[in-house]
Amino acid sequence: MNVFELVQKHGHEQVVFCYDDSTGLKAIIAIHSTILGPALGGVRMWKYESEEEALFDVLRLSKAMTYKAAVAGLNLGGGKAVIIGDPRTQRNEALFRAFGRFVQSLGGRYITAEDVGTDEKVMEWIYSETKFVTGIPESLGGSGNPAPVTAYGVYVGIKACVKEVYGNESLEGKKIAIQGVGQVGRFLCQHLVKDGAKLYITDIVPEKVKLCLSECKAEYVEPDKIYDVDADIFAPCALGGIINDETIPRFKFKIIAGGANNQLLDEDKHDKMLMEHGILYAPDYVINAGGLINVGREVEGYSKEHAMKKAEGIYDTLMRVFEISKKEKIPTHVASARIAEERIMNAFKIRKISLDLTKASLERRYHSS
Ligand code: NAD
Repeated sequence: MNVFELVQKHGHEQVVFCYDDSTGLKAIIAIHSTILGPALGGVRMWKYESEEEALFDVLRLSKAMTYKAAVAGLNLGGGKAVIIGDPRTQRNEALFRAFGRFVQSLGGRYITAEDVGTDEKVMEWIYSETKFVTGIPESLGGSGNPAPVTAYGVYVGIKACVKEVYGNESLEGKKIAIQGVGQVGRFLCQHLVKDGAKLYITDIVPEKVKLCLSECKAEYVEPDKIYDVDADIFAPCALGGIINDETIPRFKFKIIAGGANNQLLDEDKHDKMLMEHGILYAPDYVINAGGLINVGREVEGYSKEHAMKKAEGIYDTLMRVFEISKKEKIPTHVASARIAEERIMNAFKIRKISLDLTKASLERRYHSS
């Protein structure tokens, strides 16, 4: 494996390998881009089969964060960290404090957050060593649980999709199938029923279904039957990879708009397939950006009101994505990447202009002395 070749291929700025002998910490921090601001992204703890697998994952995830922050209009770059280890047996304060010291050593170029295998408690441990951490408990001045903001962003995103397909954004009488009523799915249901939508919900955990049904009027569907529901909208809020060769032919939906990450099994192929089937797809990282918006606010001083307001911008962003997609006849996933890349390029040009001006002023001073 040639690490520098990989780094160059995906355009990363910096990759840091972190090892702490006393705790056994093995972590990789990848900073993909700081053009728009400090690189923010979660720290994932996972039982990787190999160091190579961990490196591939952190490079892929950190690049995705650059796009997510850029398209959400945040002044943040993209970064991510992975810790090689089993979160069930190796998660402890000493290890995460060691990780926190590495984060601190980067002086704010990378800001960490929760991800798979880490939670609010872990962020609190990291916070003992560095202030470059988000998602800390509200009691410590943090933003707490991001799910309500994520769900709100998905709700306004669904309205944008409905406007695009039906000409108005009313959800009254719209049939919506929701896969997964955990945190995001459950909060989403609460918004949708208020607007008069008819809900079909599923989850593999009966207690989650029971809780959701106690809060909202909805019809329960067996987990595997959710793809066949004769509904207008499908909102995946559970797993990744659920839009694939097997499920697409089953869909009767006009819209797919949900909070889950990595919904397309194959980004290039399945985005195109949805377009060919006449299904409007809200790119996952655009519609579920509420969580990032929420922790991003923490960097500037947290206010839930501001975070919710910013999440409302997901509506306009999606409308722009649909416009580009229609105009250029390209899938929505490709259209949103265009928006992100344009924003990064503009920021890069501004930075270059400012560097050129500084250089010119230094040269003037040098030559006149
Ligand atoms: P969660 O674990 O609280 O909820 C997920 C739910 O999906 C659980 O109730 C689980 O039982 C259910 N589920 C799992 N497999 C299923 C299946 N095959 N069929 C039906 N239900 C199934 O997680 P969450 O925080 O609500 O996040 C949901 C999704 O949204 C994830 O993909 C997550 O990465 C993404 N996301 C979450 C946030 C956030 O703020 N929490 C932000 C951005 C993206």
